[in-house]
Amino acid sequence: MIADSFGRVHDYLRVSLTDNCNFRCFYCMPEEDYDFTPASRLMQPDEILELAKIFVAQGVKKIRLTGGEPLVRKDAAQIISALGKLPVELVITTNGTRIAELLPTLLEAGIKTVNISLDTLQPEKFMLITRRDVFHQVRSNIDLLLHHKIRVKVNMVVMKGLNDDEIKDFIEWTRLHPIQIRFIEFMPFSGNKWTSNKLFSLEEILTQIQKDFTVLPVDGAAHDTAKSFMIPGHEGSFAIISTMTAPFCSTCNRMRLTADGKLKNCLFSNGETDLLTALRNHEDVLPLIISSIWSKKKELGGQFDTHFKNLDASTINNRSMITIGG
Ligand code: SAM
Ligand code: SF4
Repeated sequence: MIADSFGRVHDYLRVSLTDNCNFRCFYCMPEEDYDFTPASRLMQPDEILELAKIFVAQGVKKIRLTGGEPLVRKDAAQIISALGKLPVELVITTNGTRIAELLPTLLEAGIKTVNISLDTLQPEKFMLITRRDVFHQVRSNIDLLLHHKIRVKVNMVVMKGLNDDEIKDFIEWTRLHPIQIRFIEFMPFSGNKWTSNKLFSLEEILTQIQKDFTVLPVDGAAHDTAKSFMIPGHEGSFAIISTMTAPFCSTCNRMRLTADGKLKNCLFSNGETDLLTALRNHEDVLPLIISSIWSKKKELGGQFDTHFKNLDASTINNRSMITIGG
């Protein structure tokens, strides 16, 4: 069992497969030109499997593959197939562009839920946010997953003045489709132009939805980061991830492995532990994992709190989201 000094048991591992991506979402990438990590410094498929097995032996029950864009890795299918054989719930967060090619692999690996990031339902705005003209490809890949009975959760980062006017359209989408929309509060990372006035909060999101719909809260699972809701008569549902205004640190069970094999005990931690180098040197990795998680801070990596109105994002000592693995 892996636990921290506050008694939180950690049984959920998020593994970034790459810091590379075929999109350029401004809220995720650093502002300056960015060189993706060369393949030799990324964890190789056998190394990912070996590290994953160490975590699973310590009670990890769920593994999420993320990135960067996990499905742009040439050996993504090999990695997914190998991890699919472990006794864990395997899930993935993706921008949705490569779902059609990888669908047979996802089905074979027993993946039952896919989180797809989609911040707008308007093709031109999609281009503005991602700098790629593939809105229709992502939209049809969502339908493809639903057709194959894979559960789809749609991640939508809500940013004031950019897409907050589309919340109602996303809710309308759930009327006839069994999808869950996950509205995410905009979070600060190195170089992502975050300012508190771009944040559209849990309260604002709920107020906006309640103008047009009857909203009922739904009980969540113990470690849910999202507050879940349903609308009577809708096939789908929605949830809000309120990291900034109502964080869920007290029940956190998450550990993050970056694509270059560093363990982060929190999304906002300023320290990391190099597991890959230790593995390559044939050292015992488990004590490193145990001590990293034990040193986890109580809330938000100890870097800020919910009084973020005057927060200067540049003072946060962290990687950019694309290099952490969201
Ligand atoms: N490329 C994949 C994707 O876009 O789903 C996986 C990696 S991405 C970093 C994981 C999630 O982090 C996405 O849902 C994305 O919207 C979210 N994300 C990235 N930057 C964020 C930010 N600054 N605030 C909130 N969520 C963010
Ligand atoms: Fe790429 Fe996902 Fe980040 Fe967009 S949010 S740049 S798709 S990693």
